[in-house]
Amino acid sequence: MSRIAVIGGAGYVGASYAAVLAELGHEVTGLDLDARKVGMLSRGEPPIHEPGLGELLERGLSAGRLRFTTEYADAAPDAEFAFLTVGTPTGPGGAAEMRWVLTAARSLASYATGHTIVVNKSTMPVGSSELVSQSLAEKAAPGTTFAVVSNPEFLREGRAVGDIFHPDRVVVGSDDQEAALRVAELYAPLGAPVILTDPRSAEMIKYASNAFLAAKISFINEIALICEKAGADVRSVAEGVGADARIGPRFLRAGVGFGGSCFPKDVRALAASAREYGLDTPMLNTVLEVNAAMRRLLVDRLEERLGGLEGRVVAVLGLAFKPDTDDLRDAPALEIISELLRRGAVVRATDPVALDRAEELCGDAILVTSPYAAATGADAVAVLTEWGEYRTLNLARLMNAMRGRLLLDARDCLDPQAVATAGLDYAGIGVPAYVPDPEMAPLIESGGDTDSLIA
Ligand code: NAD
Repeated sequence: MSRIAVIGGAGYVGASYAAVLAELGHEVTGLDLDARKVGMLSRGEPPIHEPGLGELLERGLSAGRLRFTTEYADAAPDAEFAFLTVGTPTGPGGAAEMRWVLTAARSLASYATGHTIVVNKSTMPVGSSELVSQSLAEKAAPGTTFAVVSNPEFLREGRAVGDIFHPDRVVVGSDDQEAALRVAELYAPLGAPVILTDPRSAEMIKYASNAFLAAKISFINEIALICEKAGADVRSVAEGVGADARIGPRFLRAGVGFGGSCFPKDVRALAASAREYGLDTPMLNTVLEVNAAMRRLLVDRLEERLGGLEGRVVAVLGLAFKPDTDDLRDAPALEIISELLRRGAVVRATDPVALDRAEELCGDAILVTSPYAAATGADAVAVLTEWGEYRTLNLARLMNAMRGRLLLDARDCLDPQAVATAGLDYAGIGVPAYVPDPEMAPLIESGGDTDSLIA
């Protein structure tokens, strides 16, 4: 078992890794400059919403294999491995901001002793392994040595713990073969295929993977808009297309598009890197443009269907960029709310877990704690995150709370037939509205109790 420092250990990736590595039996110190989050983690309280993390923290802390600190002097000496998991947000011109990674590397080097294998887990542009090596060398005390290994991360927020335990593959890139094999060994208990490569290829694998997944989403969204004009249903189209083993069914759900802390910033960063090489990236640019257009299109669609937005009440269900996380970074809902408010709408918004974080980000939107409270007096309801509990909404109750009837399903998570049966007007992306049987129309028109019909 190894002594491991996880730097940035209170973040989404860092906290999840620290907890899982401790569960695998290692002696782990999570280091982060954020004292509030470190305090919470030290008490076994996850500072982020991540299913399963709380239980792992508790086990690691009580077994004495896991601790958290704000001091490099506490975490760096004697660490055999140091995982770098600090943020690499979008910097000037779309490039990845490497400031925090390089600062962390220098701080680590100032306190490290002996030989440390530095594991680059943050998403870093091609060439970053060399930059990290240089930063370490700047501060390394005599006799202290480092090996740098690129080991990009592919976990999904909301499923981080499961994804770390069950990765599709582990990518390990280094010029130092021995260090690469030692990092690969850390993952041996997980039984995943390991791809051993050079650091630049490892770094590129991460960006190319995210760009490809983002492209799949923008692709199906463009197809969805064509489906609308052509009279096709994008759900059937995606099913038929995704059944081709060469394509696969995932990331083919049409809707509001991608957001979050990874896809948008990583596609932008890859395009920015290409520009530095003097290359154009028409595909990557289009992926981003289509994605941005989907957010505008949703607001336009609401405006059109409501005959204007001034004074209209719009209920927004879901703020997080996807279900099972409280992460609001580049969440489509925030941009959509801001545009709705700008066009004069009154917005009542809710989310099962992200309300606290949303307070400062939602402008004049009124935040409420349940979808039915959000829908009260609303002209339209827009589902912007496909939380499990929104898939099973009591649509009749929702309809009764509203003053209008429009339901915009921007995540393809509701059944148009159930929506229509509840007496609501369905609007989706590439999904036709259900045309009810004429015999049921009188009941639907009356807005009567349609619960039995939904069942
Ligand atoms: P995050 O913002 O949640 O966490 C980063 C943490 O680093 C913060 O807690 C911050 O306080 C800490 N930090 C910043 N500077 C520091 C320093 N000098 N020393 C110690 N701690 C410092 O970010 P995240 O979402 O966990 O992402 C981290 C990296 O992992 C990014 O490069 C991201 O692209 C990549 N990644 C993220 C995900 C994801 O789903 N979140 C998935 C794969 C890869």
